[in-house]
Amino acid sequence: MSDSVLKKIIIVGAGPAGSSLAHLLSERGVPTTLVERQRDFSREFRGEGLMPSGFEALCQMGLEDQVKELPQVKIRGMEIYQKGKFLFHLEPDLFRQDPGTNWISQPALLEMLIGRCERKPDFSFLRGWRCVGLVERDGRVRGIKVVQGNEVREIEGDIIIGADGRASMLRKLLNPKCHVYKQIIDVVWFKVPCPEFIKNGIGLAALSPGNAVLSFPVYDNQLQVGWLIKKGHFGAIKRQGREALFQNLISSLPDHFADYLEKNYEKISDYFVLDVACSRLQTWHHRGVLMIGDASHTMSPVAAQGINLALRDSIVVANELIPVIRGGLADEESIDEAFKRIQCERMKEVRRIQKLQQAPPKVLFQQNILARLLVRNLPWLSRRTLVQGIFTRIANTFVFGYSDVTLKT
Ligand SMILES: Cc1cc2nc3c(=O)[nH]c(=O)nc-3n(C[C@H](O)[C@H](O)[C@H](O)COP(=O)(O)OP(=O)(O)OC[C@H]3O[C@@H](n4cnc5c(N)ncnc54)[C@H](O)[C@@H]3O)c2cc1C
Repeated sequence: MSDSVLKKIIIVGAGPAGSSLAHLLSERGVPTTLVERQRDFSREFRGEGLMPSGFEALCQMGLEDQVKELPQVKIRGMEIYQKGKFLFHLEPDLFRQDPGTNWISQPALLEMLIGRCERKPDFSFLRGWRCVGLVERDGRVRGIKVVQGNEVREIEGDIIIGADGRASMLRKLLNPKCHVYKQIIDVVWFKVPCPEFIKNGIGLAALSPGNAVLSFPVYDNQLQVGWLIKKGHFGAIKRQGREALFQNLISSLPDHFADYLEKNYEKISDYFVLDVACSRLQTWHHRGVLMIGDASHTMSPVAAQGINLALRDSIVVANELIPVIRGGLADEESIDEAFKRIQCERMKEVRRIQKLQQAPPKVLFQQNILARLLVRNLPWLSRRTLVQGIFTRIANTFVFGYSDVTLKT
């Protein structure tokens, strides 16, 4: 069966980029169709660390109160262990200040955003529909093909936004040139009930050469654990069996943490392996389609940047597209010019942050002599004025962003 629905803006993907953009557009009366392949966001873990830059973006969208009500935990610091021995306690001022860094339920955030959109008459949400193709005429994309089970639809739109994440279908279909940073790690994520020795809001990092574990207490009384392993090695570790995999995991942990995991072995959730990637498109717009969020710049998980950048992208898209649509100038040339301005404004921050994301995995994971010395002497180093200046500049970029992003419409 096929059907045809005409809408002005089609957004593929209801992650942080797509659903926040849908919120901004629908609040301003722009007819918007949002298409999402998942029926239930909680079925896929996609990271939940929200930096002040992301929180600030949501506040600009008029959502401060709604965001504060979502399930979340403020991360205030970290206990650092090296080869099982306690090194130091890290609790920087940046983390203590408000709003700080929060571990926030992404499914709840997305449902809240979509709920806001659904109150608007010109908004429609295709939940559980997967975009599988493009509708092209005269060298330009005029719509998309979506499927749900055996049902196929074509949806026409004047502007198509690809916000369909790191495995973007639109990116595959348009096949644009891409700058790729080679990655050395993957991350195995799992949850376990939060132990009592983990203090409220204080994470634990256990580092040893070729094996690092980061863990954070999260909103559902669980401990979210991210185990950094050598890229592509999960299959080999898994083939040795669950017990060998577990021994591999606890080998870098301090005794009390390893004992706790052993006692709670049965309560460990399924492992979710993140194939870490970091890349960006050279051009974010192709044949009438604009790509934003992870679809245009897939972020490494380092310093929890992806959600924040995605939210900031959608502010800039709204700033540029809404005046074009409202001014009745939504001809192809004006739309393409707006796309160029969006890329130009966002590229500075994306490029800078992706570059900064490359060093920490090498220091944390490889743990060569230099890296071990660096980590061990971090408290002493952080008191030196020069080092303090460098750390503060990097931390500020991760926490507050690199460019000024202000909602103007
Ligand atoms: C395991 C993991 C941990 C992470 N940790 C963090 C963190 O702590 N903090 C942080 O800031 N970032 C983190 N990230 C990155 C962050 O989740 C992403 O950068 C961010 O979600 C990007 O938002 P987005 O909207 O661009 O894409 P996504 O969140 O990936 O959303 C894309 C949406 O498109 C949908 N979709 C995909 N294909 C189709 C299709 N063909 N048709 C219809 N819909 C489609 C998907 O179902 C999804 O809902 C993590 C990512 C992962 C995977």
